[in-house]
Amino acid sequence: MAELSLTLAYLYPELMSVYGDLGNITALRKRCDWRGIELKIEPVDIGQPFHSASYDLVFVGGGQDKEQKLVAGDLQDHKGEAIRMAVEEDVVLLAVCGGYQLFARYYRPADGPDLPGIGIFDAVTIHKGRRVARCIGNIAIEWQGGTLVGFENHGGRTYLGPNCQPLGKVLVGFGNNGEDGGEGAVYRNAYGTYLHGSLLPKNPRFADHLLRLALQRKYGQADLVPLNDELETRAHGAAVYLAKSKGR
Ligand code: GLN
Repeated sequence: MAELSLTLAYLYPELMSVYGDLGNITALRKRCDWRGIELKIEPVDIGQPFHSASYDLVFVGGGQDKEQKLVAGDLQDHKGEAIRMAVEEDVVLLAVCGGYQLFARYYRPADGPDLPGIGIFDAVTIHKGRRVARCIGNIAIEWQGGTLVGFENHGGRTYLGPNCQPLGKVLVGFGNNGEDGGEGAVYRNAYGTYLHGSLLPKNPRFADHLLRLALQRKYGQADLVPLNDELETRAHGAAVYLAKSKGR
């Protein structure tokens, strides 16, 4: 029986997991396994309740406008308030792309009415329409003195309000909107980002940052045994080089 145990709510695993976002779950699971920490993964799908007291971490991936329309309704009807409560109690949350957009105030898709968000991030997202080029390509951002790398593919442009901060500064790529140099959003222990890739396998420093926050919140301590991240570090370096050499 592991001494340390964390529970992760994996939201909409079938609908919201584009561009390899499942890799984020795999990375967290392996980085816990290698340290003897138990990570229980609980899928929470459309129509299922979100028991905020049960979770230490929450993950939601990206999705196309069609899936987001289904998820937006479910968030409003079943889960939004409970997820907001969890974030106010410092549960650690990672929302990628389409999930990030729906965890802000609203998402205006390419067609149809605005999709209401659950307001964790003080931000709005506007899709510029199907005739405007999407934000696609390799992306590198500055984060806590180092870099985070990934791949972005979104039509929506996100604009932050005063009550949340960007995750990082864009070094290469579009980021939130291709205009203000910001990428992602942070509010308490909730992180939104456009970085697919998957994000966490290529960015072990960020994966461990999320695990530390969850352990600190649950156990009051967060001593993570260092891992041999040589392969991840090489993949990270190659991704930064690729992003910078290709400019996008
Ligand atoms: N459908 C949203 C957009 O185009 C999100 C896409 C995604 O999750 N990759 O901006």
